[in-house]
Formats: sequence, structure tokens, C-alpha cells
Amino acid sequence: MRRALLAVLMCGACSGPDAGVAPAGEQQPPNFVVILADDLGYADVGFQGLQDFATPNIDRLAASGVRFTNAYVSHPYCSPSRAGLLTGRYQHRFGHVHNPKFRAGEGLPLSETLLPQALTEAGYASGIVGKWHLGDAPRFHPLERGFDEFFGLLGGGHDYFKSAGADAGEYLIPLEAHGEPVPVEGYLTEQLTEAALDFVRRRTGHPFFLYLSYNAPHGPLQAPPELLDRVNSITDPRRQTYAAMVTSLDDGVGEVLALLEELGLSEGTMVFFLSDNGGPTPANASDNTPLRATKGTVYEGGVRVPFVVAWPGRLPAGRTYDAPVSALDIFPTVVATAGLETPTNIDGVNLVPYLLGEEHGPPHEQLFWQSDEGEQFATRTAEHKLVRVLGREPELYAIEEDISESNPVSDDGVRIRELSGSMEAWHVAHPPPAWPGTRGERPVHPNTAKGLGADQAEIDAWMARRGN
Ligand code: CA
Repeated sequence: MRRALLAVLMCGACSGPDAGVAPAGEQQPPNFVVILADDLGYADVGFQGLQDFATPNIDRLAASGVRFTNAYVSHPYCSPSRAGLLTGRYQHRFGHVHNPKFRAGEGLPLSETLLPQALTEAGYASGIVGKWHLGDAPRFHPLERGFDEFFGLLGGGHDYFKSAGADAGEYLIPLEAHGEPVPVEGYLTEQLTEAALDFVRRRTGHPFFLYLSYNAPHGPLQAPPELLDRVNSITDPRRQTYAAMVTSLDDGVGEVLALLEELGLSEGTMVFFLSDNGGPTPANASDNTPLRATKGTVYEGGVRVPFVVAWPGRLPAGRTYDAPVSALDIFPTVVATAGLETPTNIDGVNLVPYLLGEEHGPPHEQLFWQSDEGEQFATRTAEHKLVRVLGREPELYAIEEDISESNPVSDDGVRIRELSGSMEAWHVAHPPPAWPGTRGERPVHPNTAKGLGADQAEIDAWMARRGN
């Protein structure tokens, strides 16, 4: 069901030097490119304050669009975050709360509609280049989930220089290209960039959606000498390798943007850039400054990410948008911009009216996170963030002023009870995990098992059983 595209108005909700918007009127729906980095640190792009190397191309993208200063993903690690992004729904709604274990038959439940499936109705051709990580069994394959093309890796990561036989482990099996196994050739990040350029060249002239899901700079830390040379002012060898990996990713963004420009598609393409979760700072030498903690936690360092959207001539350029937004918003933003009705069962919000100043106020009253089957919860409103980590007292932060979550707000209990209550109500509405986590079978949170009925004694007993 198509409907009229939004007229373009002046942006009243953004701040920055350049209004950069087109005249009002109907235009053709754009192409969509979602560029996802993997385990990129919050501070590791220029527009987030990066100091020891440079990301000129990602910065150029940010300068041509809107940079979100309070942007989140729906999970602090890979697969559940991607499940949220591609469905627009909290992945807890369908039990996708763990990474799928390789060759274990686990994957994004088939009950869910993915973004490329939704776009089919509007005539889009969809391609994924890069990391899938939403199930490696045949029924979960990207080509079964709405994508017309797949070039990349089915698992959670890959060696950047080599592959082995089909029986090799997750990080060494051959890549897949258009249904055929192919080896890693050269440097994987560059190989993925080439595949993305190939997709765009072949699909030009027809509406397309490209999901360019780099596995960089996820481990293993590997980069070729010529990239290491470009960041040789960095003396720490691990940080240097990480910087080289991000440099290659930035090169790739630049090549995609240059091709769109060459093909005259810059103004006809909406491009997103974000990371799937915060940097695992000890593991890959990333930097989440000034955020607290890392990937895997519900502190800001796990879930707050660099995030930009650009649609030159249509969305404001060189602006920032400060209200909290989520990767869940990509789905409804894309389907609405494609002229489709937004499904009613999703948690994301179409951000375009907010960026154009047609809608005021925050897109989300409240955002939620839950990880490790109830060991970690967090919720954020415009003003506050509540973190509940098993074994610790609840922590309430005035998050707008205290982005580092370093000074818990004293509270008479009212606000904490209120936010805890909404968090519990959100959590208990969800089914149990669709498959167990990598740490093995663990007792299910009593509220998950019983609905809202568990009392504190049961919760305490559950916590004790978990041995924390
Ligand atoms: Ca990740």
C-alpha cells in the first residue's frame, strides 16, 4: 500500500549550520544503504572526537546528513542487535536474546518480517554484503529472508586474510557469493567493499536496498602492511591494527559514496551508518570515551553508538539531532520513506518527520535493554537512565548531564521504583529465549516463567541459584 511521500519542510528540531533541504513536493522514493560497523568504539570516528587517526569518509557522510547524539542499538552485542535492526522490533519479543551458535540450527525466528521482505512490496531489490549472524541453517539464510543477493559470511566473524574448507570453523569457512563458496581474497574488508560496489553498479536504475554489514573492526585484529603504514603514528600495536581496520572500513564508505555520486544517485539514496554495539575495548583496542564500560553491558559503552543518516537534498545537512533514537527506527524510517504503510507491531519510529521538524517531542518516551536473561536491565527516558545489574544496587543517572554514568543520582526510591516497574512490565511481556545462551542452560527469570506474578523472594532465590 503506497501512500504519498512526505513533503519536505524546514527542520525545526535539528541544530547546526545548514538547513540544506529541498523544496516541498513529491519525489521518487530513494534507494537505501545501511552501513553497519561491527564493534566500533563510540569515540572511533572523527565526528565523535577521534584523535589518533582519521575517518574522513564517514565524517563526510555525517556532514552531509544528520548525526544523532543520543543513538542506541537494542542489544549490547552482535546478533540480537542485528535482529532488532532488521525487524524494527525489540528482539526480546521473539526470543532472539542470544547469539545463534554456529551449526546449531538457531536463528532469527521465521515468524518475523525482515526489512528486505517488507521492501519487496515496493519493488526494491535487496542485497546483503558482509556479516549475517542471524542463523546459518538453510531456513535462516538471507536469501530466505527477503534478500535477493548475498555476498559474505553467515557467522559472527571471519579471518580477514584466509578461508579454509567447508568443514572449517565459523571464522574460516569460505565466504558465500551468489550461492557459491568463495575464498577470502586479499583483505576481507576490501573484498566486501568491492562486492558492495558491484551490487550498486548492477542495481542502478532500479530501487535498491543495500545492507553493507562489515564485520570490521570485530576481531581478530588483522590488517595488511599498507593499511598499518597509514596509521603508523600509533605506537600501541593493537591499537594500530584496530586503526588500520577502521581505516579500511572508512575507505569502503568513501568508495560507496563516490560511486553513488558518480552514478548521480547521491540525492536519490538514503544512507545510514552505525555500529551494532559498543566497542569491546580490551578485546579489539577500541575506545568508547567518554562512555562507561563496553560491548556486552547495558551501560552506555555497550549500547550507545555513532549513528548518522544522510539523504542529501531531502534531509538537513550538517545537523545534529539530540533526542534518543534507536537502531529499531531504521525499519520504519525506510518502509515509510519507500511509501509503504508502517506495520503496527514494531517498536521503532519513522524518524523523517522528526528530522524535518514536522513532529516535535521525542520519538521515544522510553527505551529498554535486557541482556543475559535478566542479569542486566536498563531503561532510558529523555532525562534518566536506570541500570539494574545483578548483584548491584539499582543505579539511576541523570543521563543527559552524566553521559559517563559516573554519578548515581540520589533518589527517595520513587523514580527507581517507577522505572523498575516499567522495565519489569516490558520484560515479562516477552517469551523465554528461543535458544539457550552460550553459557549453557541457566534458570529462567521467575518473571519470565510466571508472568508478572513473581515476588521478591522468588527473584532473590533465582539470583542465588545463578551463583553470582
Ligand atoms: Ca558486534
